[in-house]
Amino acid sequence: MIKRNPCIANIKAGYLFPEIAKRRREYAAAHPDAKIISLGVGNTTEPVLPHINAGLVEGAKKLGTVEGYSGYQDEGLILLREKISAVFYGGQFAADEIFISDGAKCDIGRLQLLFGAGTRVAVQDPSYPVYVDGSVLIGAAGEFAGDGYKGITYLPCTAENDYFPDLSMLPPNCLIYFCSPNNPTGAVSTREQLGALVKAAQKNGSFIIFDAAYSEYIRDSGLPRSIFEIEGARTCAIEVNSFSKPAGFTGVRLGWSVVPKELKYSGGESVNADWARIAGTIFNGASNIAQAGGLAALDGNGLKEVRELCDFYLGNARLIRGTLEKLGIKCVGGDNSPYIWAHFPGQDSWEVFAKILDRCQVVTTPGSGFGPAGQSFIRFSAFGHRADVEQACHRLSLFE
Ligand code: PLP
Repeated sequence: MIKRNPCIANIKAGYLFPEIAKRRREYAAAHPDAKIISLGVGNTTEPVLPHINAGLVEGAKKLGTVEGYSGYQDEGLILLREKISAVFYGGQFAADEIFISDGAKCDIGRLQLLFGAGTRVAVQDPSYPVYVDGSVLIGAAGEFAGDGYKGITYLPCTAENDYFPDLSMLPPNCLIYFCSPNNPTGAVSTREQLGALVKAAQKNGSFIIFDAAYSEYIRDSGLPRSIFEIEGARTCAIEVNSFSKPAGFTGVRLGWSVVPKELKYSGGESVNADWARIAGTIFNGASNIAQAGGLAALDGNGLKEVRELCDFYLGNARLIRGTLEKLGIKCVGGDNSPYIWAHFPGQDSWEVFAKILDRCQVVTTPGSGFGPAGQSFIRFSAFGHRADVEQACHRLSLFE
């Protein structure tokens, strides 16, 4: 018989969102008349806007013609890679430094193959679960000790440190997962903070995997949208990003990674060359229909629609945060991100989750599911139809 990969036993029992779905099902079964509204999962709800949708349709139509047909394109359409460089990075990257993917989460999982078992990992605490679970699956350094994976360094991000970690806690030569605008806290790091992060990575021989999946939600023009706005990042950072949240492509699947040519391992080998090798070996590229949609999203009309869609969800975020603050609940996020991080001091996150579900029939996400520092917090997601969000806010306004 074949043995199970021992790393699988090391990941936490239930992924957070299936656990929430299970509790929602149990509640619905016990309360069949309840009209449950979800402000839990970060899944987009609004239709793809017309210009971008036309790009998807056009992409599908082209496949039915001799001239327009295309097959494999391992690293993505050159035109899309050039467009991404121009729109998001001021043209500073060549097309072969941008790799089109089927989404940021998939790339985060695959990127770990570059470093392999035994790699030290540091994450913001709380953080998006795939950074920890993906690292554990690949056998990143450490042992599972019942209550957590001891090899991963958790960097608490709390109100006390303005949701930016104490960089002196970073272990040497580690992979740092960093997300801004942050899921789940909604906090956005400043230019000075990211400057300090890049300096710390350079000093201790670490790489940053910068997750910018929510960059299009930044409305404060002083805040950086990419790690590559920071000097020195090209020698110590990889950035992942996605069309999921700005264009509503959560189901379409399209993202990208930027791997600069200057990025070198300790032995001097090129990370970019290895990533191209991995893309060609175990990934055959993103759907060409999705890429046609991506191209449409990045022209003048497409970018207007991206802004419109993000503004819509930010409008939801304002309603939710306003409702919570009227109740005297301290919150961060929701201004430059679609998540609101609400504090319930002294209370257990899962208990607050259950209370809100029971009293308001609103599904949220317990902060402790994102890491130990998330205890006593609840994440509210602004992804929802406006009428549902208004109804949820009305119910929450009666919450005690
Ligand atoms: N990164 C962060 C921080 C996310 O919150 C999410 C989805 O919720 C993703 C990545 C996933 O992006 P994609 O849909 O491109 O896989």
